[in-house]
Amino acid sequence: MAAQILDGKQIAAEVREGVKKEVEELKSKGIHPGLAVVLVGDNPASQVYVRNKHKACEEVGIYSEVHRLPGTTSQEELLALIRKLNEDPKLHGILVQLPLPDHIDEKKVIDTIALDKDVDGFSPSNVGNLVIGDKCFYPCTPYGCMVLLEKAGIDPKGKKAVVVGRSNIVGKPVALMLLARHATVTICHSRTKDLAAECRQADILVAAVGKPEMITGDMIKEGAVVIDVGINRLDNGKLVGDVHFESAREKASWITPVPGGVGPMTIAMLLKNTVEAARRRC
Ligand code: NDP
Repeated sequence: MAAQILDGKQIAAEVREGVKKEVEELKSKGIHPGLAVVLVGDNPASQVYVRNKHKACEEVGIYSEVHRLPGTTSQEELLALIRKLNEDPKLHGILVQLPLPDHIDEKKVIDTIALDKDVDGFSPSNVGNLVIGDKCFYPCTPYGCMVLLEKAGIDPKGKKAVVVGRSNIVGKPVALMLLARHATVTICHSRTKDLAAECRQADILVAAVGKPEMITGDMIKEGAVVIDVGINRLDNGKLVGDVHFESAREKASWITPVPGGVGPMTIAMLLKNTVEAARRRC
């Protein structure tokens, strides 16, 4: 039987609606959640992402300011801006849009964001807290994956989860979050010996590889839940995930589509983290 669709567009809309209510509640207590987004240079994709984040903030009533800096901005100038934003009481979250120009040390920049404003969740201290199970901000895309599972009523406890990909922004954090929810987790990567055999073990399969339609139906266990994080544009302009949707759908019980699965969740979870940051300041 074909899998049920985990509709990220719909679930993201529900998350945003919830955030909007939380913003209203916080405002009634005199707290107006605020987010600063910093963009350095003129990367066209980054410009679109930043515009979308600003628009999403406006829609739910979060105060948002965008700092657009030229590509020639020095590292010290950028760090000075971040230190200023760290001190600004109007702002509860700070996000630096990646990638940064080559002459800027990304790690140093992210590490300068105050821990209580790191709503993207990428700083080493925040990641450390995630590892030890302490209070932290969940990185937005992995957080979105977990909310999708929750909304579908899937409890990871005791399940075998396989994550394909070990990046710091998706693979590793989603694996840690599944582990925290008591799944037994395997992380696969480019040196994994028999990827298909590993994937076939999964009750929950998360694909975050960046290779179009690499995971096919024959690699999926009957009844598995498939979360496809991948976003790949084919030469013909079509967007596809890391999972071959049609063949995977025949085996899975639930599956996220691309587009319209994990993608819309990422900004929704950024809004959620910003409100959470404001709440923690109460
Ligand atoms: P990275 O390129 O940083 O990581 C890819 C991972 O996949 C690496 O760990 C790599 O292994 C592994 N990998 C590559 N080839 C293979 C292979 N043949 N077999 C097994 N593992 C392999 O990608 P990201 O994590 O940043 O992104 C992954 C995908 O998710 C991309 O399509 C990206 O566009 C998408 N994405 C979507 C988001 C959303 O909002 N929906 C947000 C972020 C990303 P190794 O470490 O050994 O090199």
